[in-house]
Amino acid sequence: MKSWSDLNEIQPIVTKMLVNSIDKNRIAHAYLFNGGRGTGKSMASSLLIKSFFCPNSDGAEPCNNCSDCRRIESGNHPDVHWIKPDGASIKKDQIAHLQKEFTYTGLESNQKVYVIEHADSMTTQAANQLLKFLEEPKRETIAILLTENIQAILNTIRSRCQLMSFKPLNQNHFQQQLQDLGIPVSTAKLCAVLTNDMEEAKRLSEDEWFAKSRSIVIKLVETLHEKKEESYLFLHNQWFSHFQDSKQAQLGLDLLLIWYKDMISYHIEDFDRIVFMDEKDRMERYAFTLSQIYAATALKHIVEAKRKLMANVNPTLVMEDLMIHLQR
Ligand SMILES: [Zn+2]
Repeated sequence: MKSWSDLNEIQPIVTKMLVNSIDKNRIAHAYLFNGGRGTGKSMASSLLIKSFFCPNSDGAEPCNNCSDCRRIESGNHPDVHWIKPDGASIKKDQIAHLQKEFTYTGLESNQKVYVIEHADSMTTQAANQLLKFLEEPKRETIAILLTENIQAILNTIRSRCQLMSFKPLNQNHFQQQLQDLGIPVSTAKLCAVLTNDMEEAKRLSEDEWFAKSRSIVIKLVETLHEKKEESYLFLHNQWFSHFQDSKQAQLGLDLLLIWYKDMISYHIEDFDRIVFMDEKDRMERYAFTLSQIYAATALKHIVEAKRKLMANVNPTLVMEDLMIHLQR
């Protein structure tokens, strides 16, 4: 069970604003929580709802123990409705159904809350239906809309909600959370650089394909700088068979980017920042040939290669071209 002080560690501004409005009894009728995956939007929703219902709260902090808190935690509270996309979108029927539920008074009190996850996936009809609902707020009702993409939310809806912006997670804090789960430090560090979504990070840390990706990227670096005449061969024998689709190819290049960023961190002696921690010895050996300027240029070429892959340029051409730029 999480508390506002847990949320405060990752989202201090949002926490302060929400706790303040709870303390002053000025909870808005509608909130729009905007932020990337894993930034704490669901946690904040759940806390806000518990604070709203909990009869034993200590200030804003819910007790996490009463029947309201426990049913909210398990998703079984009769006056709390969570709406999720049905397939790819949230349909008008779902919102109409919700509205109907809300014409009755709350089952246990007059308080009711609804949360719309991925609110940006509402069809236009659903969004218009919701708008009517938001235009006539009932006194004891809270709407919480969650989105990762605020641009896709109708302006008319946005303007009726209080916006809360969830910042990307602090990398060090996230890494520590992963380590607390038992993920080894080097993997936790790498995952924290690649994503700020807890579930995705856990999945990556257990994925054999991902572990192999890491070693292939390091082997590519080794080939480029120790046996450069074999670079193309390496691409064709190992790289393309491992990084097959475009998402995989992007990840391969992301890892390569991290390696050269590490090289820069090595040069400026910012050793704590180095992600491929086991590669420090190699960086030391390469430091003379791979100057800071060379590494910065490498980053530029890798970013360019990522852009070309996005634009569907043939991956073989993109990678062979990149090898020419990186060989040293
Ligand atoms: Zn409680």
